[in-house]
Amino acid sequence: MRYKVIVVGAGMVGTSIAWHLQKHNSQVLLLDKRPPGSETSYGNAGLIQREAIHVHPFPRHLTELIRVLPNQKTDIRYHWSAVLRHHQALLKYWQFSAPAAVQQIEEEWKTLIEHCTNEHQHMIAAAGAEALVRRDGWLEMHRSKDKFGMAVAAAKKSQEQGIEHQVLTIDALKRLEPNGNFDGFIGAIHWSNSWQVSNPGALVKAYAKSFQQMNGSVVEDTVKAIKPDSDGWQVITDQQSFYTDELVIAAGPWSNQLIKPLGYDLPLFPMRGYHQHFKTTVQNTINHSLVDMDKGFVMGPMQQGIRITTGAEMTLMEAPKDLGQLQAVLHFAKQILPLNEVVEQEAWAGSRPCMPDMKPVIGAAGKHDHLWFAFGHGHQGFTLGPITGRIVEELIHNKPLTVAVEPFDANRFSKA
Ligand SMILES: Cc1cc2nc3c(=O)[nH]c(=O)nc-3n(C[C@H](O)[C@H](O)[C@H](O)COP(=O)(O)OP(=O)(O)OC[C@H]3O[C@@H](n4cnc5c(N)ncnc54)[C@H](O)[C@@H]3O)c2cc1C
Repeated sequence: MRYKVIVVGAGMVGTSIAWHLQKHNSQVLLLDKRPPGSETSYGNAGLIQREAIHVHPFPRHLTELIRVLPNQKTDIRYHWSAVLRHHQALLKYWQFSAPAAVQQIEEEWKTLIEHCTNEHQHMIAAAGAEALVRRDGWLEMHRSKDKFGMAVAAAKKSQEQGIEHQVLTIDALKRLEPNGNFDGFIGAIHWSNSWQVSNPGALVKAYAKSFQQMNGSVVEDTVKAIKPDSDGWQVITDQQSFYTDELVIAAGPWSNQLIKPLGYDLPLFPMRGYHQHFKTTVQNTINHSLVDMDKGFVMGPMQQGIRITTGAEMTLMEAPKDLGQLQAVLHFAKQILPLNEVVEQEAWAGSRPCMPDMKPVIGAAGKHDHLWFAFGHGHQGFTLGPITGRIVEELIHNKPLTVAVEPFDANRFSKA
């Protein structure tokens, strides 16, 4: 079987790329070992984050490091095995987290983020997925006066970039979320032009269905190897070989496994998160996702129930689940809402695909023709899938670009 383009990885990123290419008349195969939207793009907090103009730097202040080092915090934890294996990437992450570097990175990052809701909207409309999306924002809740003050100042500044917010007193928060107990909180920010999705995996599936309705092909099979051939690429799976003119690797945190044999060694590292659903009742119904900024977790109203998602755990992809962080978070979540009945016994875990400079890789692979990379979207890949899809389509079809891709170049680390 020969295709114009094969996209490996049917998460939010790969599915959006396949959708854009198919829409512009490429004959596309979307290949994944699982059905579309079954991995990280399934288990996330479901926020389409127009407000996310700030990246997530490595803690550099001594007070921050002292806070994180004992490994007991709810928002970030680490395992030494992962720190050792990924030490080079983490060292780079630390370097890129210097304030001047972060300022530059955020200038480049915002060129992607500013398109997020518009780009999702095209795909939501085409996929008939309106019912999955709410456009009334999410609530960032604070317990500490100092951090709240800084967050409010930053929110005011973000208005210049078209980001809308309201500062809420606890009374105002309670009016929006009457079921919540906000003892211990001092205020909140309502990010009103960000969106929330009630089933992130279902949104990816809806986009994949829309892709199939345009005659795109979806195949469930595990890619074992990719090899250049005289006309393009051979993609060898568990069951067969596929051939293509252009090949896109969008396999999220697994991307390195596929490209290392070709001589690419990008500093991609995983940051795990967990979620668990609790049955929705009259007493715990919420209208918005609630984010506890001090404890570092999200409570989202999902189709499956109230989804509690954790912050970052630096661990190996293959490491067994460590439920310590989720348990610690649930202690605080249960103070905010009655969460009495779990929906599934086993918590979900998945890995954010992270890069040390907190920017995704989008563009030509560099060492091989007709090979394209799109991964490393870290904490915001669900938000950024559709704009990534548009950019990759423009690159492959040699069109003028909506966003300059130099900051996202795959070879930026070897050049540095
Ligand atoms: C707890 C948590 C909360 C988050 N919340 C948000 C949020 O609110 N908003 C936001 O924007 N982002 C959020 N994120 C981040 C976001 O989920 C990720 O950035 C995004 O899902 C990455 O998408 P992806 O398509 O690159 O990867 P994935 O969704 O992981 O897709 C990669 C695909 O590649 C496939 N694959 C891998 N190897 C192979 C192979 N050899 N053969 C075939 N297929 C293969 C996998 O099966 C998988 O389907 C969160 C992440 C976590 C963990």
